[in-house]
Amino acid sequence: MERTLSIIKPDATERNITGQINSMIENAGLRIVGQRRIWLTQKQAEEFYAEHKEKSFFPGMIQQMISGPVVVQVLEGENAISLYRGIMGATNPAAAEEGTIRKTFALSIDRNSVHGSDSPESARREIAFFFNHTEIVG
Ligand code: ADP
Ligand code: MG
Repeated sequence: MERTLSIIKPDATERNITGQINSMIENAGLRIVGQRRIWLTQKQAEEFYAEHKEKSFFPGMIQQMISGPVVVQVLEGENAISLYRGIMGATNPAAAEEGTIRKTFALSIDRNSVHGSDSPESARREIAFFFNHTEIVG
């Protein structure tokens, strides 16, 4: 069993499609074992995405992430990290495969509806960033 950190981003909470995204997650065989709806501060968003701070899109991406509520989630399942990356689809929804969350719901590369950890190391860091162990119930 593996765990990964998912974020349903503001473009998706704004359109009231968190349930539809959760259905796609559950239909893929992943279990939502932790979940909370929060509004990120700029400081939190900048710290969470620190690896991207030199990128040209960083300021706009941070503004987007703090433009509304997000749903942070811990997903559990076999190969959860790569499985979730697969059902999320490519970062740019124009390049995402049919049936993926981003192909189905994302509006653009900067409003791409979901985040998912990209490695065991980032999953560990990102889960601990938002959840303590009593909030994750498998
Ligand atoms: P992913 O979310 O697929 O792991 P990255 O980690 O590369 O993608 O980027 C983090 C987030 O930054 C993306 O999900 C997207 O919201 C934003 N982003 C990435 N590349 C661009 C870009 N070229 N223009 C605007 N926003 C971008
Ligand atoms: Mg990433």
